[in-house]
Amino acid sequence: MADTTLMDKLVSLCKRRGFVFQSSEIYGGLGSVWDYGPLGVELKKNVKDRWWRAMVHARDDIEGLDAAILMHPRVWEASGHVAGFTDPLVDCRQCKNRFRGDDPRIKGTPGQADAQCPVCGSRGTLTEPRLFNLMFKTFMGPVEEQAAVVYLRPETAQGIYVNYLNVLQSSRQKIPFGIAQIGKAFRNEITPGNFIFRTREFEQMEMQFFVKPGTDAEWFERWREWRMQWHHDLGLSPARLRWHQHGPDELAHYARAAFDVQYEFPFGWQEIEGIHNRGDFDLGRHQEYSGKKLDYFEQAANERFLPYIVETSAGADRVTLTLLVDAYREEEVEGDTRVVLGFHPAVAPIKAGVFPLVKKDGMPEMATALYHDLKRRFPSFYDDSGAIGRRYRRMDEAGTPFGVTVDGETASARSVTVRHRDSMQQKRVSVDQVADYVAERVNSG
Ligand code: ATP
Repeated sequence: MADTTLMDKLVSLCKRRGFVFQSSEIYGGLGSVWDYGPLGVELKKNVKDRWWRAMVHARDDIEGLDAAILMHPRVWEASGHVAGFTDPLVDCRQCKNRFRGDDPRIKGTPGQADAQCPVCGSRGTLTEPRLFNLMFKTFMGPVEEQAAVVYLRPETAQGIYVNYLNVLQSSRQKIPFGIAQIGKAFRNEITPGNFIFRTREFEQMEMQFFVKPGTDAEWFERWREWRMQWHHDLGLSPARLRWHQHGPDELAHYARAAFDVQYEFPFGWQEIEGIHNRGDFDLGRHQEYSGKKLDYFEQAANERFLPYIVETSAGADRVTLTLLVDAYREEEVEGDTRVVLGFHPAVAPIKAGVFPLVKKDGMPEMATALYHDLKRRFPSFYDDSGAIGRRYRRMDEAGTPFGVTVDGETASARSVTVRHRDSMQQKRVSVDQVADYVAERVNSG
């Protein structure tokens, strides 16, 4: 399957089955902003829930946080985003397309007569690069003036840094400890695209781990290992995951080390999560800009220090796209093509489809009762329309791991068939045990 075709097929499947829709579609859509439909919202929620469980609930040394999107404008001066969060932007006066100044497809120097537009091919029509800040701006209060400017946060991390003391004091944690947060972030990206890979509104799952200077390298390695394991546990193909180490030209000036978890998308190897050793840059800057002391007193060593930070920063939308890409497959079955989203049962939006084999002999009633039973335990779907094979196919496309069918034997034998999505094999299971049967397999990962 050509790789562009795979993305096209996925985008169309996502729309058809209710995973992802274009934002404001009836008005022609809004550039690189997407909405999650009934199946998509479940899939993404499963990603976020698994992250929260692994990072917060399963550990003693990480606390959760939900900071506001709007923050004091000084935060973004301290973080460096007001001065530095910029991309050089080039416009073509002829075809009106817009590029990043460092777009490798541009031949010549933008602004000069020899420069050639990579889309329309015109020469001398590219503007000089202009610096463009990626933060969305708005105004707080009734007057639209400079003093009222606030930003939509471009990352969730700053909400963690500025609450570091609040969390430390209220939770009675000691260093080393971490703060985790899931929330929306906004970037006015110049070249968004590849579906939900790079969007202007997205969700981040970020954790900042505060450590004693000198122990940072060790914690960094631990976090690298744990985070890669988490991606493996989602059921992603190990061969399509790898590390990318930031070289000196990619590394932020304050960063001591940075590695990205990359996934092999149809459009190439790309970052889905970054693990960064940020040193004391963040707390140092907030201490300087706020004038509030943020250092830590370690009683045991009778020592004061500004903690170093190891950050893990993943995109919920990117991980969701990764799951969709990794799960998509087409198979020939008895002369027919079936499309399957082979999600790990733990992340699948719907866990079980429930079907009466035919609409008579009490089967719909028994199936409906069973469906309500299962739905109390996990997301399930009832379908009584069309041939059973078609109903299975519809569930395959939604990534539902189990199909539960009430048939002619159910009334007398008190059993149903459970069809497994991947092997398509069927097994008879007693009606009383089917909920446990599915739940056990869903919770096993
Ligand atoms: P990129 O180089 O791809 O723009 P980045 O290095 O700017 O990413 P970070 O600032 O490290 O990304 O953000 C951490 C994570 O947030 C990324 O690994 C990614 O999963 C997610 N993310 C960042 N920007 C976007 C975006 N525009 N759309 C969707 N997810 C994003």
